[in-house]
Amino acid sequence: MRYLTRLLGVLLIAATAGTLPVQAARLTPLATTPDWSRLEAYQYTITRAEFLRLINEVYSPDGGFWKYCQLGDDRVLLFSDTLKTEPLAALHFAPDEASRRPLPVDFSPMARVSATATKERPLEGVTICLDPGHVGGEWAKLEERFFQMPPDPPIEEAELNWITCQRIAEKLEALGARVTWSKSHNEPVTKLRPEQLRDEAILSIAASGGNWPLTFDPAKILQQIDDRANSLFYRTAEIRARAEAVAKLKPDLTLCVHYNAGAWGDVKNPQLVEQSKLVYFINGAYSEGELSYDDQKFELLIKLLDRTAPLEQRGAEFVAKEMLERFKMTPETYANWSAVKKIGSVPGVFARNLLANRSFPGPVIFIEGPYMNARDAYPWLIAGDYEGTKEINGVAKPSIFREMADAVVAGVVRYFERPQ
Ligand SMILES: [Zn+2]
Repeated sequence: MRYLTRLLGVLLIAATAGTLPVQAARLTPLATTPDWSRLEAYQYTITRAEFLRLINEVYSPDGGFWKYCQLGDDRVLLFSDTLKTEPLAALHFAPDEASRRPLPVDFSPMARVSATATKERPLEGVTICLDPGHVGGEWAKLEERFFQMPPDPPIEEAELNWITCQRIAEKLEALGARVTWSKSHNEPVTKLRPEQLRDEAILSIAASGGNWPLTFDPAKILQQIDDRANSLFYRTAEIRARAEAVAKLKPDLTLCVHYNAGAWGDVKNPQLVEQSKLVYFINGAYSEGELSYDDQKFELLIKLLDRTAPLEQRGAEFVAKEMLERFKMTPETYANWSAVKKIGSVPGVFARNLLANRSFPGPVIFIEGPYMNARDAYPWLIAGDYEGTKEINGVAKPSIFREMADAVVAGVVRYFERPQ
């Protein structure tokens, strides 16, 4: 009976979705209405030329952002809609570099290092937040970040990310940094659970338009709702809860740590691919569709105005170079994928709009380690974390977690170094 009522609700929402009045603030699922007054602290902090360069080269390479704007010589007006009838905010430009007002927060790395830092402890005064990707534990299978090739132990991405971050934390602390965490082990940060997100799931499916429901089979419709509720839990609610935690921690830099994968096919019979490709993301490359949401417009502007793009690029490039040197794996190239934009000349560094690197305040480096299901990494991962070296594919190697931690920490040290 409960299911029947829910199903009727679904059909009603789906049937009326196209005829409902347009909402004043169009928001992505579980987003809160942006506090546009926060932009006041950024008035006159950027020149028109720099604003245009960052929008065109980093944040909106397809030009979608301009469809919501009226650009003047001394200010830009932002609208919710492309007809430009619902104004959201006005941002005034600084007339020139010399008269730029100071930013409310200075994230530049050199400003964060303490005067007491030494060669042995170069990260004194610096706070770094570690964000090991995914929830893990009892949620690992639901997150679809889990596979097993018996008799080998399972590969669970959240656990790999967690171990790597433990090694990263030890090294950073030894170098004088204060390390904070976006999550604790295997427990969701969000208080919400999938069963509490079913109504939100129905709304989100209905809002995504199309001819949903694609089926009139009640079991299949309920399955679609459950799938969306699960994804809203582990992808959306979890990341948003972590973003709130990061905002309170006020780190100077956040590292999102993941392991990548190629398509492994059926989880009951996972397949290995030949080789890993390495990739690192900075926030950017918002699509025109993503920018139809007011919360995404707002988060873009805060990122842009905080000048995180050049910092994220600097950090991602240092980490990329260190990873390339140690792992000698091919960098990702992403030919013809519009969700990313190549940034700079260091291979493997791209702009991409992910909920984590958009909603975590301050500079965020999003690091993808080797493929969990590639022949060049799988046996290395299965060998676990160990001291010293072990023979992997015929070569004596340190644990993959320590190798990755060494590369990431070396990149972070260079990020906070004063240019010579
Ligand atoms: Zn991941």
